[in-house]
Amino acid sequence: MEQNENYLFSVEDALEMVLMFGQEGAISYANNSAKNQLEFGDDLLGRHISEVFPNTFQAAEDGFDTEYPFGEEVQSLVAYRKNRTCFPVETRIMQGPGDSGQYICMAIDVLEKEHLNREVEQVRQEAEQAMKVKSEFVANVTHELRTPVNGILGNAKELLAEDIDERTERTLRVIERCCSDMYKIMNNILDFSKLEAGKFTLENREFDFRNMMDYVKKNHSNKITEKGLEFFVTISPKVPEHIIGDELRIVQVLNNLLSNAQKFTAIGKISVEVLKTAQINDRIELFFIVKDTGIGIDQADRDKLFQSFSQVDASISRKYGGTGLGLNICKQLVEMMGGSIEVESKKNQGSTFSFSIWAGVKEEEASVSQDDIVLSMPSMQGAFSVEEEQDSSRIYGTRENRETLERTLSKLILCVEMENWEKAEMFMETVRQLTAEAPPEVKRVILRLKMAIQKENYDKIMSGYEEISQMLQ
Ligand code: ADP
Repeated sequence: MEQNENYLFSVEDALEMVLMFGQEGAISYANNSAKNQLEFGDDLLGRHISEVFPNTFQAAEDGFDTEYPFGEEVQSLVAYRKNRTCFPVETRIMQGPGDSGQYICMAIDVLEKEHLNREVEQVRQEAEQAMKVKSEFVANVTHELRTPVNGILGNAKELLAEDIDERTERTLRVIERCCSDMYKIMNNILDFSKLEAGKFTLENREFDFRNMMDYVKKNHSNKITEKGLEFFVTISPKVPEHIIGDELRIVQVLNNLLSNAQKFTAIGKISVEVLKTAQINDRIELFFIVKDTGIGIDQADRDKLFQSFSQVDASISRKYGGTGLGLNICKQLVEMMGGSIEVESKKNQGSTFSFSIWAGVKEEEASVSQDDIVLSMPSMQGAFSVEEEQDSSRIYGTRENRETLERTLSKLILCVEMENWEKAEMFMETVRQLTAEAPPEVKRVILRLKMAIQKENYDKIMSGYEEISQMLQ
């Protein structure tokens, strides 16, 4: 009995509003919270439930009409105060025990909660927007920076081809090296911001795997052997000749791992091994192992290795340079290709980075002849020019016009990749103006490209872009 009284006492002073009403709709009990929050005071007793919840209960001759699903589930309703102002509540209304004809209603004021939810949602949307703006900004700035750096690099290369004294050549070589390093860093930042914004897409094309590995080998063998290191590349005979996947991105991962291996190894050797580890129908798993005998990495440092902007320690980054983005990009790329990347290492005993990817193979692989596949390697140089836009750039067919067009088109594609359709349309308008005097076949492709951009059709945009790029060559 005593227990029961204590229980009733707590209902009376509960923070939650508690009401009881009968079949005829009259409120027979209200706790303090209900009397205060609804601002009726004791006057609440005897009132019809439809005065508190007019949107849910309607007064009827024999009591009330309602579609309220009585039971355990919490419902969102609107409660009205005596002065007819209202606030949102979460309620649970149940029928009393047996045939008592009583209903028990519990309600909580959720105005503050809703307000907080709205604020949280607003903050989330603002953060998302800020992130998008930041990623776009970084991508745009980096893209813009590539143009002048390319210009310096191109000019330095031209001067190097001339008859120059030894001192000038040394200076030019330093400029050349600095530009290449800057170019690599900018490409990393560009890739990273695209990956971060989820705007990164992989190509799926057929290519000659051994040609690709030859390219990677040639790319690194000079630097590695110049340091007095041995360099081995082994490909298991089980790896098919032709693979379907994103060649450029596989090369990018290998380049990054090999540059690191070469950067952090002073004595010994560097090796790359490629194995085929699994096949499911026309998909194969390729496993790459890049091994060096360099400075190695501590267990503690290994855990943060694949995080963005992480370098093992400040003294190492001062000595060797870099942004700490490379391995994070590798991880994201490898994961996009369905695989994973791991590292095994011991301080001062070298490191082994291994990664797997899934790629496609053609069923008739064995019957495809070598000559059927023409490998085209990426060429970063010459893609952009430093020259400012001139009036003659408007005259279709001139060198200036071609360069301005190429530049505008590449900006347009960047906007498409970042899904900034407004800007893409802006660049499209420039392209249209730059091709105002072009022959009809070019204009037709331009029109197709314009329509594809308006419809935001990614595939058609890319094929239009390729078509027009070929016409410009
Ligand atoms: P960065 O562009 O700075 O080289 P990475 O993400 O490629 O960035 O590498 C991050 C860090 O991981 C490097 O600064 C280095 O400390 C460590 N690291 C990467 N590869 C090796 C390696 N083969 N041997 C030793 N340390 C390595």
